[in-house]
Amino acid sequence: MPPIATARQTATSVIPRTARAAVLTAQGGPFAVRELPVPNVAPRGVLLRMALGGVCATDAHIFKGDWPGFTFPAVLGHENCAWIARLGEEIATDFLGEPLTEGDLVIPRVAGCGRCWYCLCGGAMRWCPNRKSAPGVGGGLALSGGWAEYMYIEADSLQMFKTIAPPDVAVLTEPMATCVGGIERSQLRLGETVVVQGAGPIGLLTAACARLAGAGRLIMVGGPADRLELAREFGVDLTIDIDAVRDPAERSRQVLAATPRGFGADLVLGCVGHPSAVGEGLQYLRPGNARMVEIGNATGGGSFPLRPSPDLVYKNSTLHGFWGTTTEHWISALRVLERRALPFGKVVTHRLPLDRAADAIAALNGDYRIDGRTALKVAIEPGAK
Ligand SMILES: [Zn+2]
Ligand SMILES: [Zn+2]
Repeated sequence: MPPIATARQTATSVIPRTARAAVLTAQGGPFAVRELPVPNVAPRGVLLRMALGGVCATDAHIFKGDWPGFTFPAVLGHENCAWIARLGEEIATDFLGEPLTEGDLVIPRVAGCGRCWYCLCGGAMRWCPNRKSAPGVGGGLALSGGWAEYMYIEADSLQMFKTIAPPDVAVLTEPMATCVGGIERSQLRLGETVVVQGAGPIGLLTAACARLAGAGRLIMVGGPADRLELAREFGVDLTIDIDAVRDPAERSRQVLAATPRGFGADLVLGCVGHPSAVGEGLQYLRPGNARMVEIGNATGGGSFPLRPSPDLVYKNSTLHGFWGTTTEHWISALRVLERRALPFGKVVTHRLPLDRAADAIAALNGDYRIDGRTALKVAIEPGAK
């Protein structure tokens, strides 16, 4: 793919009255590219010209109707990276106090209302019931998601983070924040033996975080082979290909054999999103205070058979779930991406125009292949023709 435009763009003075958007018309589709009105910018609003909007497994679940309360039609896209087209007159800086001007590349985040219990207590902002400017929230079709030429956000606690990273790296901030949060929950200690389950974008970025946070031996169980190849570039020492080793018991045996003394892993990071993988991950743990953090199963109602004694109690294991990033996770994620210590520019494998949103969803709900290549992170590029 040719490189996408550099971080800074010259401000376009003319704002169109309408903008093209990939509208998900109903659960299960179809998508339709429609012209939606571009709103006037309120004093605390911002109009963004989209650079890239990542496609997330969450979007694939929304498409299938696995997201309670989501309203259709909607413009999807919550992993966003955009240039400021118009700033509300009361907004002069980004969330960290950096001066903002039109043309700056930013990562926008609608954090929550900033006033309620969810926003102010217990790190539960993700569950703020008062959010208005997010895809599928509050009803009505508007430029509230990133799969559109322009995105408009008006929120009490709109957070924007100005960035020096190129768009195809900066667009990873939202999924990377989840991985940062998962690593934080895991309390990873230097030199620990870590297994990451899953070779999708979350698995890969979680492995990257584990490597940067000081993991010792780092093992990935996932597939297909070309994703595992990239995982090794991200510092994974050993990969076990689930397409080659199809029996979970044999995978567990291979993981244990790859750990010091064959004892098992200190930490397992679950990034698959299939319930059975959680049960398998628990088998990888060594006896004695090892832990597993499940990041992958963020939605869906599936289950797995848990054997409380051997899987949990007898080994003194701890199983955590992680979802719901904090502002700190976003800031850390962006700073890590900006340093480019690992080849983050290889994570976005496909940039698709608005009229191919359906192809992206079909790949995520299918065989992860687009245009004859394995997809890792797919991003919608609304400016592409
Ligand atoms: Zn996402
Ligand atoms: Zn709130």
